[in-house]
Parts: sequence; C-alpha cells; structure tokens
Amino acid sequence: MPLESLTQIAFSDPALHAKGLFIGGEWLPGRGIPVINPSTAEQLAEVADASVADAMNAVASAQTAAAGWRATPPRQRAEVLRRWFGLMTDHAEDLAMLISLENGKSLTDARGEVAYAAEFFRWYAEEAVRIAGEFRQAPSGANHILVDHDPIGIAVLITPWNFPAAMATRKIGPALAAGCTVILKPASETPLTAYAMARLGAMAGVPAGVVNVITTSQPGPVVNAMLADPRVRKLSFTGSTGVGRVLIAEAARTVVSCSMELGGNAPFLVFDDADLDAALDGAMIAKMRNAGEACTAANRFYVQAGIHDAFVAGLTKRMAALKVGPGTDPATQVGPMITTKAVAKIDRLVRDAVAGGANVTTGGMPLPGSGYYYPPTVIENVSANAEIAREEIFGPVAPVYRFDSEAQAITLANATEYGLAAYVYSRDLSRALRVGKGIETGMVAINRGLMSDPAAPFGGAKQSGLGREGGVTGIMEYLEPKYFAVNF
Ligand code: NAP
Repeated sequence: MPLESLTQIAFSDPALHAKGLFIGGEWLPGRGIPVINPSTAEQLAEVADASVADAMNAVASAQTAAAGWRATPPRQRAEVLRRWFGLMTDHAEDLAMLISLENGKSLTDARGEVAYAAEFFRWYAEEAVRIAGEFRQAPSGANHILVDHDPIGIAVLITPWNFPAAMATRKIGPALAAGCTVILKPASETPLTAYAMARLGAMAGVPAGVVNVITTSQPGPVVNAMLADPRVRKLSFTGSTGVGRVLIAEAARTVVSCSMELGGNAPFLVFDDADLDAALDGAMIAKMRNAGEACTAANRFYVQAGIHDAFVAGLTKRMAALKVGPGTDPATQVGPMITTKAVAKIDRLVRDAVAGGANVTTGGMPLPGSGYYYPPTVIENVSANAEIAREEIFGPVAPVYRFDSEAQAITLANATEYGLAAYVYSRDLSRALRVGKGIETGMVAINRGLMSDPAAPFGGAKQSGLGREGGVTGIMEYLEPKYFAVNF
C-alpha cells in the first residue's frame, strides 16, 4: 500500500514537517501555496507564501549573520556541514519519502537523490579547509603577487522541483564552505524537502540567518527585489533556460554575479562497435533516472546504422517492462510526471513526431486515471526537424535517430542551442574521446549512463548555463579573488 499523505509518514522527527518561512532562525507560520502529490493529484500540504517584505527580511537576516559566519574559522564551518551531512544520512528515509510524495519520483530514485544531495555537504566540508591562495613573483621581478579569496557575499539560491534536495545542497554546501550566507527559494511544487533540510541544518548548528528559506507564489517580483538590493552579491539559479535568461538580465542591473544551471538536450551516441548490452543499460539510466525529469536526461538517441535495429528492439523491451505507479509504492520503477501540464507537453511532442512519420514501438499515450502518468515510450524513425529533437522532453520518452558516419553524429549532436551533457558508447576509447571533444557540452559520459558526482564540475556550455557546481571549482562561484601587489 503506497503512502499518500504526510500524516502517514512515521517521521523519526516530527519537526521535519515544516511549512512556514525560515528567516533568521525563526519559523514564521503562513499559508497560500498548495503542495500537490503528483501520484494522486491530491493536496498534501500548504506552505507559506512570502511577500517582497518577507524576502527583504530574509536579506536583512542574511546580512546580520554575514560577519559572524565569514569570521567563523573554515574548520568550524566544515564541521557544521559535516554534521548536516550526518543528519541527512540519519534521516535519509524520511527525506526520501518526502521527496517521493511531493515530486512523485520512485522511492529508489528518491533514496538515490538523498545520498547524492548529502554528499555535497560532505564534499564541501572537505573543501572548506582547502581554499588555496597564490603567492608568486611578478614576471617583471619588481614585486610579488598575493591572491587571497573573500566570500562573495549574500547569495540568493533558486532551485527547481526535479531534485528538491540535491539542487539545494549543491548550492548551500559551497556557499557555506566559502563563508557566504544564503536565501534559498525552492520551487513551489516541492518546498517541503527544502524546509525539512533547513530543520536539519539548524540541528547541525548552522547559526540563525546563515541559511534562510522562503517559498513564494510570485517568484518574479520577490527575486527581483532581492537582486535589486545592493547587499545581495550572488545569484545561483538552477532551472529552465527561459527563466535563466530573464534572471541574467535582471542581475545585470546591479551587476550581481550569476551561476546558471539551465536546460539540456543531451545526445546519446551509440556506435556500431559499442557493447550493445552496456549501451542499453546506460541508456536506461540516462533516460529513466527520475522518469526522464532530469536536465542530463538523454533527449536524443543517435544510433549508427549497423546497430540501430538491435538497439531499438532492446530498448523497447526494457522500457515496456518497467512498472509505472505512485512514487511511494515500493514496486514502482517509474513515478508520475510533476504536473498535468508536463504530461500535456510530452504528449504534444510525441504527437508531433508521429505526425512527422515517427513510429511508436512502446507507450505513446498518457495513462488514464488520477495522477500525472505518462508511460515509458520509444519512438523510432524520428525526423531531425521534429519538435522533440529541439525541446527538452523532461519525461520517459526515448526518440531514436539513425546515423551513418562519425562526422554526421557530431554534427547532429551539436544541432541544438543547449550544451549540458552528452553520452558516447564505443569500444574504441580513442574514438569516444575524439567524439567527446567534438561535442559542445560541459560534460560527456563515455560508456556510462550517469555522470553526476559531487566531486566533479557539473555544468553546461552554450545556453545550458554559466559556471560549474561541485568539484574543486564549485566553491569558486562563491569566492571573490582579492589580489595584493606586494613589495617585500
Ligand atoms: P523553472 O520553471 O525555470 O523554475 C525554476 C525555479 O525558478 C523555481 O524555483 C521557480 O519558482 C523559479 N522561477 C520561475 N520564474 C521565476 C522568475 N521570473 N524569477 C525568479 N525565479 C523564478 O524550471 P523548473 O520547471 O522548475 O525545472 C526544470 C528545468 O530545470 C529544466 O529546464 C531542467 O533542465 C532545468 N534543470 C537544470 C539543471 C542543471 O543543473 N543544469 C538541474 C535541474 C534542472 P516557482 O516554482 O515558484 O515557479
């Protein structure tokens, strides 16, 4: 029997049911934003709706806490993050259930997300004490160059609904490690996970005002007001390219530093010499993690002519065997989409492809009943001009295209404004690396269906973003280098 409401969760700590704004270490009660369970289309909870004035209070709290947090020794900041990692791990099952309820993803995916999310705190606990500077002689020999790093200042963090925990920790971890205070604005669809994590942060010893969390039904005015405030020096956004473009323009007014993790349209290339079973295993992960609702999700499968038919047959068999159902049902492999609008978009893209001559080998129609379900779907013989080749599908649909030569595969892979992630399958490693170099993305997975790793720089080229999260470079997004010209 799947869980369908919050009250059915036996939280080890009932305090994790938080629904108010979290500002300056205080919980401010409120209502106004319904949270819907996509598995049932029923309301789960209602959270507070922040006004512009609430957002300004959050900025003031972040400012009040800034000097103390900046002066906190890196080792102490690291220990707070390490404790937060530990608490997330201790409460992993509670958090996974919450994610599954408000996002709809399967419990397996939700557990995977919690582990991934917590790792950003552990990784940045380790990086907090390794912020390197520089000291060297100037080429002229006249003086020395000393480079130190300051925390950049108050950071506004905006996150999407598809990874409610990990997209938040991927920003909060490096920001706190660098000595910044933050205001997190999670997506309206999935605020409960962010509030539960804020509770755990307070338990871990995050001082009042260092992390503030606000939800709002008017993200435009609320975020714009924060960006217009000269105390705010950083915007880190994860979401669609469309909203990212608007926010870059808004941040330009006050020259706020921007990190942008935007949309993707990942190509998945399979060459004739690939290990077919390995390519199918990888395809299932790259396509079906989070039921396809991932920015790195394989969006276009380009398969070389010699292996094409066997790949389509194998993918169809695996996709057709997946069990679709409510996220919290332990038997579910594919949960619902986030909203009915998301289902309608997927349906439109599939219909357009079919109208252009594509053939559906499994799935292909929204599922009836309550909840927002679309089945695992494979379509072959898709036209390169179909809308589905240009738009992010964000759902469990795998369009397969045929190619002949390596040069053609690279040209097809690059025929998009996006440049986040790509996948290459070939037994010839030099070919895979050569193709990977030719693809205009920030990340390439070779003979692997998964690339996300807190220890690696995650981010996109072209219109998929600016900057990187994770890895040793991720912390630099929250630091301002300061150069001293020194005579000694
Ligand atoms: P979205 O519509 O762009 O929303 C993302 C966040 O921005 C939400 O918190 C949203 O708040 C907020 N927002 C919306 N309009 C805003 C405005 N005018 N000013 C300020 N904030 C605003 O994206 P989404 O549908 O939640 O997420 C899916 C997208 O995220 C996909 O394109 C996916 O590829 C991308 N994504 C990228 C990465 C990456 O690392 N590159 C990772 C995950 C997802 P509300 O919820 O209140 O509207």
